[in-house]
Amino acid sequence: MDFNTYVSILNSDLRILKGVGEKKSALFAKLGINSISDLIYFFPRTYEDRTAFYNIYTAPDDVWCCIKARPVRNVIERKIKKNISLYILKIADESGCINAKWFSSPFNRTKLTIGNEYIFYGKVTSENGSKEMELKIMEPYGENNLTGRIVPVYALTNGLTQNDIRKSVNNALLLIENIIETIPENILKSNSLIDKDTAVKNMHNPKSFELQAAARERLAYEEIFMLLLALMKIRDINKTQTSVVLNNVKCAADFAKSLPYELTDDQKNAVNDICSDFISGLPMNRLLQGDVGSGKTVVAAASAYVMAKNGYQTAIMAPTEILANQHYDAFKHFFKNHGINIALLTGSVKNKKEIAEQIRSGEIDVVIGTHAVLEEYISFYKLGLCITDEQHRFGVKQRSALSHGEKYPHVLVMSATPIPRTLSLILYGDLDVSVIKTPPKGRKPIDTFCVNSEMHKRIYEFMKKHISNGRQCFVVCPLVEDSDKITAKSSLDMFEKLSAIFGKERVALIHGKMSSDEKDRIMQSFRDGNADVLVATTVIEVGIDIPNANIIVIENAERFGLSQLHQLRGRVGRGTEKSYCILITDNNTEECLERMKIMCSTRDGFELSKKDLELRGCGEFFGTRQHGLPELKIANLFTDLDIVNKVRSDCEKILKDDPKLASEKYIHIRMRLENLFDIHGGIEIFN
Ligand code: ADP
Ligand code: MG
Repeated sequence: MDFNTYVSILNSDLRILKGVGEKKSALFAKLGINSISDLIYFFPRTYEDRTAFYNIYTAPDDVWCCIKARPVRNVIERKIKKNISLYILKIADESGCINAKWFSSPFNRTKLTIGNEYIFYGKVTSENGSKEMELKIMEPYGENNLTGRIVPVYALTNGLTQNDIRKSVNNALLLIENIIETIPENILKSNSLIDKDTAVKNMHNPKSFELQAAARERLAYEEIFMLLLALMKIRDINKTQTSVVLNNVKCAADFAKSLPYELTDDQKNAVNDICSDFISGLPMNRLLQGDVGSGKTVVAAASAYVMAKNGYQTAIMAPTEILANQHYDAFKHFFKNHGINIALLTGSVKNKKEIAEQIRSGEIDVVIGTHAVLEEYISFYKLGLCITDEQHRFGVKQRSALSHGEKYPHVLVMSATPIPRTLSLILYGDLDVSVIKTPPKGRKPIDTFCVNSEMHKRIYEFMKKHISNGRQCFVVCPLVEDSDKITAKSSLDMFEKLSAIFGKERVALIHGKMSSDEKDRIMQSFRDGNADVLVATTVIEVGIDIPNANIIVIENAERFGLSQLHQLRGRVGRGTEKSYCILITDNNTEECLERMKIMCSTRDGFELSKKDLELRGCGEFFGTRQHGLPELKIANLFTDLDIVNKVRSDCEKILKDDPKLASEKYIHIRMRLENLFDIHGGIEIFN
């Protein structure tokens, strides 16, 4: 097969596969599979080991295994209920005979020929001395599709079966014949990695668990390789840039003096770090790390203040409109008597054109917004600083989009999610870190409880007590409205219910399906004390600051990750009142109980995100997709740290050898990178 054919097959629609038409291809799309290439890289969620063979006599109790045997008579059907039947098939081998039983689906019954050999996969159980087999799969001896081997188990969506996916994957693998190697051979050799074709095929159909592990390692290596290589390229480009040099950073003290409180030592240190960067002549590349509620915003304001007083503009980006609005309000207060002009720029702001003009002319000193700030029609007069709040990566895209002028903006990233030091070094390269360890004075620890839904009544009594003392409460639900697919509390239902309990006019509702204006109005009204209870979805997850709220109740807590729960919990404990976080779940699985236990016993965000990484991997954690970085499907930057280290030194060698990856031997790396990264969206890795 020539290379062009290979590439065109990889990019083809799934409908070129036998048995995949309009309908199935739409279902595959639901799983994020839109091309042959997507399908080939859609790896099993887990595997089922069906390699163990026993004969009827030696098969141990309660162990899933294969038995090669022959049916000795026809299947007997026994009706148990209207729609449920029990099927019984007597099978025999040289060692004895046994009844194989299964419910409901009369699978394969018609094809069965008495006396022929089949493989029966199931579990032998014995009750009162009589043995029987709980049957899961049977197939004719010699077919070896679903028995006698390690079988892949894929994530499914309604309407697609394991068989659909298995067949399509295998057909796709047959179509493309050989998967072309991307990593140079010397690197494979020095890391004892298997080739890509073997790796992909053994991910789907592992010959053994050893080979599957080798396959996983090989593919994890490649994922990390592509990510790090791209990040290193970006870092090298960043290094060649220059940023504005400020003369007067002493003015930061004037700002501090105007605040209603004194900055904590950590906040002062952070401001100092930032100011030293401003006068250094080098572009700042700084992460401001501080747990939820530690007071990062005011540090951002101080930095923007210093920029403005030196005649440069600052852009501040928040992940949501609600948060952008809140920052805008906070900054209005911060800069009230300082003669600094600020503007809000989000998708729903009406006078965008006018604001854009004022940004271009330099009339606006500080722009606060969402990604709208990055729209092409926005150009800054003299952008000196770019701050992103609560975004784990400082967007590769954002940066290059904003650096069109002759100077590169200084960059400050604020995050409550502490990235382990080793990882941040690897991911961010030369990133400097300022940490806010100690929260502002007078904070009391948040007490966290985990209860089941039988406790609702008592929780509401508890809330009432605090409300009568003037406090406010959040109640968070996982869903906006009821869903027929998921059973979890919806905000609409909860709003109805709580309105009846706390009084209609004292309960407010906010969720993601509302318009921005509406969300903004509701947040403002809640902040002004016009309601006691705010029923919300995770739209309030990040950054929302209402110091008077001291109770947060989280419904269906099992549906949230640890870091997310910690972020939500951080919505309270921001004032001087003692605060409470109540996690409600009826899920008794070990995994859920473990997570709840961790939440109740750990207040430290660092500990929690470490645990979260261990439990969930870091694909979601870094939220790479929104930053134009490829999603990690196999690798876990936390647990695969040894691979990360190997990759790093390999990448360094390659970039030294050929910084532009221009030579023939790197062509596949280059192509893969161009494929993975949204190059057209602004990441110029190879300029
Ligand atoms: P986060 O780090 O989560 O972004 P914020 O910046 O929103 O935290 O600050 C949380 C709360 O702490 C805000 O209400 C803010 O006004 C308050 N705060 C910040 N710094 C101080 C300080 N030095 N003294 C007292 N309160 C402070
Ligand atoms: Mg914040």
